[in-house]
Amino acid sequence: MKFGGTSVGSIESLLNLRDIVNAEPKPVLVVVSAMGGFTNQLLAMCEQAQQRDISCLDILEAARKRHHDAIDGVVVESMRDEVHATIDRFVDDSLKPYYLALATNPHMPVDEIERMCDAIVAHGEILSSAIVAGMFDDGVPHLSLNYMRTVPDGNGRVLDWEETGRLVKDDFAAMDDGVHVAQGFISRDKDTGDVTNLGRGGSDYTAAILATLLDAEALEIWTDVDGFMTADPRTHPDATVIPQMTYAQAQEMCDAGAKVIYPPTIAPVAMKHIPVWVKNTFNPSAPGTVIIDE
Ligand code: ADP
Ligand code: ASP
Ligand code: MG
Repeated sequence: MKFGGTSVGSIESLLNLRDIVNAEPKPVLVVVSAMGGFTNQLLAMCEQAQQRDISCLDILEAARKRHHDAIDGVVVESMRDEVHATIDRFVDDSLKPYYLALATNPHMPVDEIERMCDAIVAHGEILSSAIVAGMFDDGVPHLSLNYMRTVPDGNGRVLDWEETGRLVKDDFAAMDDGVHVAQGFISRDKDTGDVTNLGRGGSDYTAAILATLLDAEALEIWTDVDGFMTADPRTHPDATVIPQMTYAQAQEMCDAGAKVIYPPTIAPVAMKHIPVWVKNTFNPSAPGTVIIDE
């Protein structure tokens, strides 16, 4: 079950997430995005810091408060102090020093800046997942940096399926009952160990990779619309939900820009014939869309 940025972006949506996950048979694997808008903020703060603009630290404080407020609203009481401390640790011991290093070192080589910004942007999912894991008495946290591996490919990077497959099998070997929680989007370079990611919108792909490697019964993409629609409802208010699609149809629409699913998501689950559901966290009783072979 993958929950996108809006689905983990507010107390209201996190409470919906909790009810949706609790209604599922266990074990279940929940893959989360960063809280809505936070990835953009982390990257904008990187730009600001490089311009020596320290006011980015004010935005960071606002984001810290947003996470703390969410913890007070949703995390089980016995876990709250620990999750508050986790947020503070990542903000004070990683994010702040990274931004200060960017702001105060005018001679930092470009590749080092890129590495630092990749490490920074990974914190969106690291922080949101700490909150989500703390919402369940039977929550089991995983760290996607421990098993998602990428390698350079032209100007970008691609997943190393072999190494990732080996590491995922280890990490999830004892996947007994419970609510397993992992970060979407984030990974490491197979050879250097540097923090990397699967590209903007990549949490869908993380969930598809894990569903494929773990032989999931289904992949559920929980988002902020009632399903895969005939067009983007933001620009086409008359768009309607498509109840059933084939993998090929979904792939074609994603390649043409239907942002609801990140394009690389479809192929691995299609290979394994794993049905993909697109469902609305804000309207869970709506039937949604199922994507299947025929
Ligand atoms: P999430 O953060 O849950 O991954 P995204 O913003 O990436 O959510 O994707 C959901 C958004 O995709 C919807 O709010 C909608 O505006 C947009 N969208 C674009 N094309 C489509 C489509 N064909 N069907 C449904 N949503 C679409
Ligand atoms: N948080 C990342 C992004 O905003 C990944 C994702 O949400 O899928 O691109
Ligand atoms: Mg998305």
